[in-house]
Amino acid sequence: MCNSVLAEGREYSSPTELSKLIGGTGNLVWRDRNPFSNWPEGEDWHAMDLCLCPINLSATLDRAGLKWRRGTDDPMEFLVTAEP
Ligand SMILES: [Zn+2]
Repeated sequence: MCNSVLAEGREYSSPTELSKLIGGTGNLVWRDRNPFSNWPEGEDWHAMDLCLCPINLSATLDRAGLKWRRGTDDPMEFLVTAEP
């Protein structure tokens, strides 16, 4: 299972979707290393339309100024609790 972000009943599960919540792609914080196993050699792993694994979600949501917490039932869920 991959991480997801939930805000106001909507689920965001790709960098493209998440950028709409956080005010643009410039607020995405990428991880330092490629998180995908078996990724093709030499291919850019900053994929906008795959899952959120390459995104540092806590840093991204903080940068966007959103309040959030981890899901209690599912720690892979990041629940946005309030807009700024
Ligand atoms: Zn993933």
